[in-house]
Amino acid sequence: MSDAKTRAIDAYIRAYDKKPEHIIRAPGRVNIIGEHTDYNDGFVLPCAIDKDTVVAIGRHDGDIIEALSIDYDAHDIFSIDGDIVESPQLWANYVRGMAKHLLLGDYSLAPSRISIAGDVPLGSGLSSSAALEMAVGRALIEQSGQMIKLTDLAMIGQEAENQFVGCACGIMDQLISAKASAEHALLIDCRTLECSAIPIPENISLLIVNSGIIHSNSDGAYNERRAQCEKAALHYGVAALRDIDENQLEAGKAGLDDISYRRARHVVTENARTLAAAIALRQNDLSKLGQLMQQSHASMRDDFEITVAEIDRLADIMNDAIAHYCDGRGGARMTGGGFGGCVIALAPHEHIADIIDSIHRHYKKNDNQKVEMLISRASAGVNII
Ligand code: ADP
Ligand code: MG
Repeated sequence: MSDAKTRAIDAYIRAYDKKPEHIIRAPGRVNIIGEHTDYNDGFVLPCAIDKDTVVAIGRHDGDIIEALSIDYDAHDIFSIDGDIVESPQLWANYVRGMAKHLLLGDYSLAPSRISIAGDVPLGSGLSSSAALEMAVGRALIEQSGQMIKLTDLAMIGQEAENQFVGCACGIMDQLISAKASAEHALLIDCRTLECSAIPIPENISLLIVNSGIIHSNSDGAYNERRAQCEKAALHYGVAALRDIDENQLEAGKAGLDDISYRRARHVVTENARTLAAAIALRQNDLSKLGQLMQQSHASMRDDFEITVAEIDRLADIMNDAIAHYCDGRGGARMTGGGFGGCVIALAPHEHIADIIDSIHRHYKKNDNQKVEMLISRASAGVNII
């Protein structure tokens, strides 16, 4: 039994003196490629990781939802009869936001007690927030005896995070946490929300290196990038940057300021790389996939300017190790919104230990940064356990 599951159940029984009726888990995720393309109606290629947020749920009386966060050692209580308002506790707003937006989506909710425990690292770019939303949302639906389509659950999660928590995230995190298949990545068309599962060949391992540098999605920088992309789309006269290719980008750039042009160039080339990466993964062409991941990192560094020096150093060390030990079969890049978080590598299983060893030897970190490494399988999306 996973640690988070044990902690969620134990805390539920201790706090409420009853066994929970349902246990739901939802995974965190990494994005293999396709960064900041989601809100440009583009393509992303994430996979779920084998770290989960677990929610234990059971009935309550009246019109009350009571929630317990084991990881924050905190408690929240609110009424589902009438307007659900913000809590001063950030974690609780993900719960309240899901409840509110499920109700707005015409789902009815049963009074419930829940406990939450997770082992997705918080604020590290592995999307603990979407894992929390999907687990809480699915649990509330189960407890009230209803059904929900996974795409609808994901959209309600995004709505809750955008409108209730106040973070302008795209749809990727919720969709992958809801719809992932084990041992597969998911190519998502963020305009149509069409998903295609692509098997990850058995010989490939996913290494996730948490730099320990804390990002915050709510940061102004994220919103600023979104605004720059919207400005560029307006310049090109299209609904979103997804609608132009590299030729159109070059042909129409006159009159667009340099920063917006470079932001647009990242998005346009990243969309093309993501589609090419999906093909490379399907063909088990690790060299091609690795090149695309390296190009993606360079584009995030130079054009989108969302990396930081330590992250660039970490990615370089990992790519050098892949060139040296794996003959270029694989690649590394920062994943997630930027300004810290994780660097991932896809590489042949037999060389992962060499890459880890290189990081230990070459990556000198500041005292307050803890580098954690995780080798993960691609896991399944939200489910009842
Ligand atoms: P990320 O999604 O990359 O981990 P975010 O800043 O988007 O980072 O989301 C992190 C926030 O989500 C936390 O600050 C907390 O409020 C909430 N959260 C995530 N996981 C949990 C959990 N297991 N228990 C309580 N709150 C959580
Ligand atoms: Mg998040």
